[in-house]
Amino acid sequence: MKIIISEFMDDDAVNLLRARFGAAQVVYDASLVDKPAELLRAVADCDAFIVRNRTQVRGELLAACTKARVIGRLGVGLDNIDVPACEARGMKVIPATGANALAVAEYVIAAAMMLRRSSYLSTAEVAGGKWPRNRLSSGRETAGATLGLIGFGSIGQLTATLARGVGMTVVAYDPALSDAHPAWMDTGAIRMELDELISSADVVSLHVPLVDATRNLFNAQKIASMKKGAVLINTARGGIVDDLALAGALKSGHLGGAAVDVFATEPLPANEVFASCPNLILTPHIAGVSFEANVRVSSMIADQVIRALG
Ligand code: NAD
Repeated sequence: MKIIISEFMDDDAVNLLRARFGAAQVVYDASLVDKPAELLRAVADCDAFIVRNRTQVRGELLAACTKARVIGRLGVGLDNIDVPACEARGMKVIPATGANALAVAEYVIAAAMMLRRSSYLSTAEVAGGKWPRNRLSSGRETAGATLGLIGFGSIGQLTATLARGVGMTVVAYDPALSDAHPAWMDTGAIRMELDELISSADVVSLHVPLVDATRNLFNAQKIASMKKGAVLINTARGGIVDDLALAGALKSGHLGGAAVDVFATEPLPANEVFASCPNLILTPHIAGVSFEANVRVSSMIADQVIRALG
């Protein structure tokens, strides 16, 4: 058996694979994703290929995996994997469903609180002897505000539970969940149609996969129909939100703030789109990557790869 791991994975989980298949059989190089020629050679005789979100498992790389039976995904979005092509080749694609949901849900609540209060970004001014107390004295509390979740799967549902715990009203849109789905009762979230949710929420947070139906879902028109002063949080995927329209809405004051963790091109190339946007938090695709989430995601994938290879 040979296992290739092309992005970072928790050491204990890698050691679990080494204990099961032999140390020499497990090739772990977190920088392999950045060495395409080496990666192409490495996967040629592997039985399982473990990736995070940067390795593009499609085209030439997928064709090189002639022996692989399993693709382990250290996360949940599958937009970097050509799943139909994998399945056509008899490969099982295993995502770490639910294992990083808490990390994302906590990111959303923290961002919602920071952005509504808009008083946390004054470090340089305060350290520099300025005292912008008057300007920062009218931030909004989070309890009592309405959180609108677009996509109500494992992350959306956990976010709803945390949000209810800090006193928010939660509404959610997800056409795949019927009225009778237990998630509504379990979380206390109220089912709502998309347009009504967008125009009534104080904080809108996206939790949908990137698929054809969600690409550019949050376009200029949707952003314009958000409530004045509302906050937008995108931890889902780049390509779902029109970043140019978002930056425009922040600069014009239509939106009160935004947090963006994911971008159409990652790493985000240096550009002017987000320059001088007020009350904006940008993070490098880390919403789901906490210390604990990495341990959970990695051990889940190690266990499932071991089970799938028998
Ligand atoms: P999930 O599959 O449990 O839930 C996704 C939900 O979206 C499903 O209930 C589905 O019915 C719904 N959905 C699909 N298309 C929709 C549409 N057009 N409108 C409304 N709802 C729609 O997935 P999850 O674990 O909750 O993760 C959601 C997404 O978050 C992932 O696909 C991934 O792209 C992203 N994610 C990002 C990070 C990060 O670090 N930033 C970490 C984990 C996940």
